[in-house]
Amino acid sequence: MTFISPALRSETQDLAALRAPLSAAERLAALEIGRALVSGARARADERPYLDAFLQEFGLSNQEGIALMCLAEALLRIPDDETADRLIAEKLASGNWDSHAGRSDSLFVNASTWGLMLTGRLVELPDELRGNANGWLRSLTQRASEPLVRQALRRAMKIIGSEFVVGRDIEEALKRSSSDSSLALCSFDMLGEGARTDRDAQRYFDSYVDAIEQIGNSVSNRSPKTNDSLHERSSISIKLSALDPRYSAIHRERVIDRLIPRARDLARLAAAHDIGLTIDAEEQDRLEISLEIFAALVNDPDTRNWRGLGLAVQAYGRRAMAVIEHVTDLARSHRRPLTVRLVKGAYWDSEIKRAQERGLAEYPLYTRKCSTDVSYLACARALLEACDIIYPQFATHNAHTIAAVLGLARSRRDTSNAPVDFEFQRLHGMGTLLYDEARRQLSDLPRVRVYAPVGPHADLLAYLVRRLLENGANTSFVNRFMDERVPVEQVVSDPISEIDALTTVEHDRIPLPAGLYGASRRNSSGIDFGRRSSIDDLQRCLHDSPALPSPASRYVTPQAVESAFRAASAAFIDWRRRPVTARADILERAADLLEQSRDTFIALLAAEAGKTASDAVAEVRETIDFCRYYAKTARELQGSAVSLDGPTGERNELSHVPRGVWCSISPWNFPLAIFTGQVVAALVTGNTVIAKPAETTPEIALAMCDLLYRAGLPRDALHVLPMIGKEFGEVALRDRSLAGVVFTGSTRTAQWLNRTLASREGAILPLIAETGGINAMIVDSTALTEQVVDDVMSSAFGSAGQRCSALRVLCLQQDCADRILDMLEGAMETLVVGDPSELTTDVGPVITAAAARDLEQHIERMGQRGRLRKRTTIPATTGSVARDRFVAPALIEIDSVAELDREAFGPVLHVVRYRTEELPSLLEDLRANGYGLTLGIQTRLEGTQQALFEATLAGNVYVNRNMIGAVVGVQPFGGTGLSGTGPKAGGPHYLLRFTTERVLTVNTTATGGNAALLTLD
Ligand SMILES: Cc1cc2nc3c(=O)[nH]c(=O)nc-3n(C[C@H](O)[C@H](O)[C@H](O)COP(=O)(O)OP(=O)(O)OC[C@H]3O[C@@H](n4cnc5c(N)ncnc54)[C@H](O)[C@@H]3O)c2cc1C
Repeated sequence: MTFISPALRSETQDLAALRAPLSAAERLAALEIGRALVSGARARADERPYLDAFLQEFGLSNQEGIALMCLAEALLRIPDDETADRLIAEKLASGNWDSHAGRSDSLFVNASTWGLMLTGRLVELPDELRGNANGWLRSLTQRASEPLVRQALRRAMKIIGSEFVVGRDIEEALKRSSSDSSLALCSFDMLGEGARTDRDAQRYFDSYVDAIEQIGNSVSNRSPKTNDSLHERSSISIKLSALDPRYSAIHRERVIDRLIPRARDLARLAAAHDIGLTIDAEEQDRLEISLEIFAALVNDPDTRNWRGLGLAVQAYGRRAMAVIEHVTDLARSHRRPLTVRLVKGAYWDSEIKRAQERGLAEYPLYTRKCSTDVSYLACARALLEACDIIYPQFATHNAHTIAAVLGLARSRRDTSNAPVDFEFQRLHGMGTLLYDEARRQLSDLPRVRVYAPVGPHADLLAYLVRRLLENGANTSFVNRFMDERVPVEQVVSDPISEIDALTTVEHDRIPLPAGLYGASRRNSSGIDFGRRSSIDDLQRCLHDSPALPSPASRYVTPQAVESAFRAASAAFIDWRRRPVTARADILERAADLLEQSRDTFIALLAAEAGKTASDAVAEVRETIDFCRYYAKTARELQGSAVSLDGPTGERNELSHVPRGVWCSISPWNFPLAIFTGQVVAALVTGNTVIAKPAETTPEIALAMCDLLYRAGLPRDALHVLPMIGKEFGEVALRDRSLAGVVFTGSTRTAQWLNRTLASREGAILPLIAETGGINAMIVDSTALTEQVVDDVMSSAFGSAGQRCSALRVLCLQQDCADRILDMLEGAMETLVVGDPSELTTDVGPVITAAAARDLEQHIERMGQRGRLRKRTTIPATTGSVARDRFVAPALIEIDSVAELDREAFGPVLHVVRYRTEELPSLLEDLRANGYGLTLGIQTRLEGTQQALFEATLAGNVYVNRNMIGAVVGVQPFGGTGLSGTGPKAGGPHYLLRFTTERVLTVNTTATGGNAALLTLD
């Protein structure tokens, strides 16, 4: 049985399709009970656990909360004291700690807290210190380099951490569980998510095996199996992303080959010990594939009699109800009881961002909290109705949700006249007081299981930050639950009434991804990698890649250049007279046409330029964005003349007019996006264009040109002339009607163009040149290894390293270099090099066999000097692309960035180590090569981010993310120094350079006095 995502509908329709989750009576009862729980808990505020107090005081709405979150996220992983001290000093200086003094008598919130951090014991601190936490902290900041302060804060973070983990390993966790009655029933979670390497995946697998065995042994020691049900025993939760570094729908075959067997082994082991095993819910992209894995486990005859297999379902997902129906069908068709943990979902913010970046048609999630709450209750109802075959586990810390679920269970019991077995779940360290209160007030509260993270502090960070984000937000229940300033009626409200009161179900401040840029420009639409149907369509379109004629067969003769110039000059007269709105309309029509013919262009990009699927999709989107962005900016620039201030009796107007015939020379690495961006920028401002595409990629340019004609562009306004660059340049740059040159390519060619233009007689012509760079990423020890590795992999090896923005030299702080390199090398092993028409391919060919040979020589030279750290392999078969065009990704260690004097334009990454005190000279070396295109920075130190930004020549600086894929209008792109002239492509000033300025001054009094002045009131 395969799960098929329901067809896309609007959020309003999705919500309306849910059955009313609660009757009127149930709604009233839920409010009453929920409010009683909150009031009861508030009356016992002094019993609340530290974390509840902490989250309430230091939420995301205050600076101190954010500062503490930053410290918590980074401090424990920093190996060197110097960097740790700088982080501490920066974060402590950024808060107004006094504002929290005396606000709570809880740990972390008053001066005693800091005493605890300093000494490891709860000590009473002097009064003056209690009253002046701010001053005390400021003096701490000044003394931040003292070991005492560092130790204190590290200890503090461990204290925060230990509130969230039950043990550093499973033994410690089980010991605690056996001695602490509140932890008697747990679902243990071995911390660590998202394996990046096969080694990590094996390590996580081993730790799951060990945990299952130990949990199994401990529960059987404690309670003989005959006496209690499986649901009364502790269980385990697993994350599929921990079991394989390529866990995604695109790598389905690999998932079937490697991940399913691993998951099945774990399930069999859990079954042998008769304990529950739940698969945690992760990203929406992975929903369908996770259900495929789950179905394989359900199908396993070896575990048929085991009742402990379970899945977490996220109610914020708009497919949640369909998932529950699917899992119920699965259980019934296999006659096999299953468990379902219903959660609201932990990744709301990052899912919304991803959907916007991807340009999805709809968000996969609800955009309002009350919609998630209603979805949760509708799903809860469906689960309880299926409780003969599904054992529901309701994971929440929200009093209303608890009360409503209990009401639903009561109704179910009454109608079916049978017991209903289910449980609640809470996270360790949270919700204790609420559930204690519920136990006190509600006789029918079922068992409550604790989700219990296990792992060393260093592995805690991702988990911790997620919890802080999730619960620190002011929409979150935990954040307001104990806050006496918020009336109980507000903390516990009816989500159905909240929805009824809305004018739109869709959040009015979260536009659909298409509307991200407002009304004046639609965002390009992307592909939903969370739906199998879109993935299959994309694969089909890649497999249908056309067979192309040889590029040379398209070449035209130098005579064609001359006649094109003549035609373009003649066409300029009419074209420039068209209103800018008419020209902009053509660009927008072209964008729409391109969106409709996306598949054709993706196939063409794969066939002619060797682009992988994700690169091709991104390139088509970028092209669409260029068309729409330049249409919008042209309307703004040329829509009307700008009136200038001046003396009365005179009209002064500035306007931007086209220059004439432009020559556009574009590269093969973005044969669609850069070709089109340059051409349409010139056209929309009223110029006509002679375009020479790269020698290797004429077909894409011709297809795009054809599309522009279909959109209404007059044929003579644009002439595409595939031919050898030098031959073209010799003729084109000497043509008398040439008005400007726009170029993207090598620095050497740009310099040749510059010299040739300078040697012309007559007017001085503008040259816009975008060239290459030796791009670096600087990483210090505050950075998160996993994030660095992800960003390095995409920046260095994405597009086979053939982007001008690609990362060429990774600069690692000595103290964290080995850790990062180790993971990076492991991640490189998982790269798929091969045929770009296969969706699974990460690294396709380089543009020609000659380019591959050049790169190989570079790698060999470095290898001879003993510098090659890692080389991946090329598979025996490379599909329709000749093997000699492939370069296996390489990692090369060098001593200094000065060793790199030219750009190796392929999947070759250099790495250099630096000591903190060497950072200024490293920057000096980077500046010395004269390039200034992109720079990546990975650090949690804001001071370092700012200092590096100021010190670099790079035109585009990316902090804590990858350094490729600049988005039109969002990250205008282009370098300085040897990397380009500017203005930046896709930026607000680009079009200006294609125009020339004119000013019209009219003496308005000449025709008989200053009427405007005389008629003033
Ligand atoms: C035992 C346990 C296991 C868990 N396992 C998982 C798991 O496997 N996978 C997982 O993803 N999460 C998991 N979680 C976390 C869970 O998804 C929730 O994030 C968390 O419990 C908060 O929900 P609540 O009902 O306690 O609090 P509430 O405050 O009532 O709800 C907060 C939640 O509402 C949602 N929300 C917030 N703002 C919006 C908005 N504007 N639009 C739509 N929705 C919004 C988010 O999901 C947010 O987490 C687990 C939680 C528990 C207690």
